[in-house]
Amino acid sequence: MARKPIIFGNWKMNKTPSEALEFFKGIEGYVTGDEAADYGVGVPFVDLDVAVKNAGKIAVAAENCNEKDSGAYTGEVSVPMLKEIGITYCIIGHSERREYYAETSAHCAAKAKRLFADGITPILCVGETEAEYDAGKTAEVVSTELKESLEGLTADEVSRMVIAYEPIWAIGTGKSADVNTAESCCKLVRDTVKDLYDEATAQAVRIQYGGSVKPTNIKEYMACEDIDGALIGGASLKVDSFKEIIDATK
Ligand code: PGA
Repeated sequence: MARKPIIFGNWKMNKTPSEALEFFKGIEGYVTGDEAADYGVGVPFVDLDVAVKNAGKIAVAAENCNEKDSGAYTGEVSVPMLKEIGITYCIIGHSERREYYAETSAHCAAKAKRLFADGITPILCVGETEAEYDAGKTAEVVSTELKESLEGLTADEVSRMVIAYEPIWAIGTGKSADVNTAESCCKLVRDTVKDLYDEATAQAVRIQYGGSVKPTNIKEYMACEDIDGALIGGASLKVDSFKEIIDATK
């Protein structure tokens, strides 16, 4: 089955609403929707409204959500809130959230289930630390994280989601994983989905590589059989760089 490539920026905690608007004005019309790939960007909560109104054919992702519908959860944002303003994707389980905000794989599973209930596509991140990589534990860590984060999801849901394999040692370091490592880990993700579900689900799920992806290296990753796209932090912040990424992949 031919999977449509999917390239997403992840702004993290960068850009005020006016800076977000400047970005979208700078890239206006650059993505027409006729490209061979899907393009999108994850933005901070306060930028979501500006993004939805100005991103055109670039999809907009929240960078987190809460799995509960409403209630006494100070500082949290629910899925119905995201849905009402037109959000179509949500990043969950990013390593920064796992590391600094105690987000667990069980949270990810609950968030993914809740997102699907409102028709929002989760972009689930998994990946190992440098120490785990050095200790040869990548396969064990990634498959465990994946298994726990997919708990309770149906094959149909998993076939429609996006999974980003992001080795933590490659995020924001400029030290991107070499292409063979990235491909073998994305294959590991696909094989794990096959073990947990079936071949059709494994062939349908779109898998991104993330970690120091740039306009100059994205093509090599995208040429790999099991890499269907990229999740891009630093290189998604500037209009020119994001345009170069689009040019390299459309
Ligand atoms: P980076 O971030 O491209 O800056 O390494 C990737 C990510 O954290 O998703």
